[in-house]
Amino acid sequence: MNKTTMTLLLALAACSPAVDDAPTDRRSVAVDSVTGGEIRAHMQVLADDVMQGREAGTDDYVKAADYVAAQYRAIGLLPLVKNGSYLQSIEFFETSLDPDSARLTLSDGNTHIELTFRDDFIRGGGYGDADEEITAPLVFVGHGITAPEYEHDDFAGVDVVGKILVQLSGAPPHFATDQRAYYSSGRGKAAHAAELGAVGVITLRTPVDQARRPWARYLPGIGTAGLRWIGEDGVPYRGHPELAGSAILSETGADRMFAAAGEDLQQIFEKHAAGETGSFDLGLSATLSRTSIQRNVTSANVVGFLRGSDPDLRNEFVVFTGHLDHIGIREGEDGDDIHNGAYDNAAGIATILEIAQGLAVLETAPRRSIIFAAVTAEEKGLQGSSYFARNPPVPIGQLVANINIDMPYLGFPVADIEAFGAEHSTLLESVELATNATGMQLTPDPMPEEVRFVRSDQFSFVQEGVPALAFKAGSKSSDPAIDGKAMLADFLKNHYHRPSDDLGLPYSSEGAERFARTALLLGLSVADRDDRPRWNDNDFFGDKFAR
Ligand SMILES: [Zn+2]
Repeated sequence: MNKTTMTLLLALAACSPAVDDAPTDRRSVAVDSVTGGEIRAHMQVLADDVMQGREAGTDDYVKAADYVAAQYRAIGLLPLVKNGSYLQSIEFFETSLDPDSARLTLSDGNTHIELTFRDDFIRGGGYGDADEEITAPLVFVGHGITAPEYEHDDFAGVDVVGKILVQLSGAPPHFATDQRAYYSSGRGKAAHAAELGAVGVITLRTPVDQARRPWARYLPGIGTAGLRWIGEDGVPYRGHPELAGSAILSETGADRMFAAAGEDLQQIFEKHAAGETGSFDLGLSATLSRTSIQRNVTSANVVGFLRGSDPDLRNEFVVFTGHLDHIGIREGEDGDDIHNGAYDNAAGIATILEIAQGLAVLETAPRRSIIFAAVTAEEKGLQGSSYFARNPPVPIGQLVANINIDMPYLGFPVADIEAFGAEHSTLLESVELATNATGMQLTPDPMPEEVRFVRSDQFSFVQEGVPALAFKAGSKSSDPAIDGKAMLADFLKNHYHRPSDDLGLPYSSEGAERFARTALLLGLSVADRDDRPRWNDNDFFGDKFAR
């Protein structure tokens, strides 16, 4: 038994409220079987060029799904989907823009200004007719948010029915981090716009978002496929075909639009950054047209589970998720177009496989059952997890918690954990138990402007009322000679969603191991505790979504 394991056992013995008849070293068996070398081996398979970047809806993704299913089989996970397979197959409506077809023209009734695709605006394919043209008046609506708890309503005093909304990305900075994240969600804003009767959303990127993600970063995504899962009614879920007038403007596109309207855009940015509201008709109309290339495709979540040992609790399920897909082949740099996604998210899937393997070796299984779901089409807007949470293989009320692992950066011996969303529920207790046991620090979200709580699959569970969190590797290094913060910043700036997020990046076996062991202990704690996790009293997300 090593020193870490001993510390761990003492910590767990001291604070675990779980009833546990097994010897106290039962957890160390699971923990010790998680190794950095095995995590790396899974990453090497999933991020290999052979996988061609694992884009959802392609045969390359199928290869990755087959690998994960084979691992589940070897580990001894049970299938949960009705057909006895690990594959929860999903039918998707796929759409991509014919880039030559995109037009956006502004008019004040006399003058027409044609914006230039790529330079001034971009847009994706639509979920309505393949050929679309729409003309509608433009109305500026601030951030496009109605937030009663902040008495913030960008739609007060304006009529938006039949109009195209022109709105700022993000949410007011004075909103608390997770509320800001929630209201910043583009998908949430689109749903709200459609509800209000708008016919399009034109997004202006605030100076904060311009700095965060330069316009050039958007361009390789042009023409790539969007996916929405198709519900039993045959309709793409939240495809919003009525929002036919949607686009994103660059800085130059926004300047041209506001100059034509005779408005001072910088002043508007400043006003809204200060939390003020103020919406108005722009006195312009816009005509948008496009041709979308559309078809149906299937892609699967890979789902298996470990049956719980407690007859009273085994019908409750803790769900580990990570997305298996990445963004595939798109224009890269230096002749490399394969977006391998080594950290995003081969590392997350590798971690989950290792956790499953570790928990499966326990002589007495965890009290609750544990589902492992490698989900598809996260990169297309959390589609695989959304399908899973809306069409769960067991009744939704039996899913007690979601722990999502997306893009842990493991290039240095990481010494801290970030657990986005944990503070909203009693899951925080289990996180603290796990981090204390492995000696990891718990760091609050250092980058609230990245709105990460809504940007990955945990949010699909939150929306169905399931307490959830995103479990991330932090930026502190246990080796003082290594600047973890600088390495993480370099990854986000230079490698995130680029072909260079590949196996050539640094990897710390020690860091990966500690990260995965902590995640395992978190899952085990949630599975073993007497009470299921619940939202805190008067919690924002609990009040909005709990059943
Ligand atoms: Zn990711």
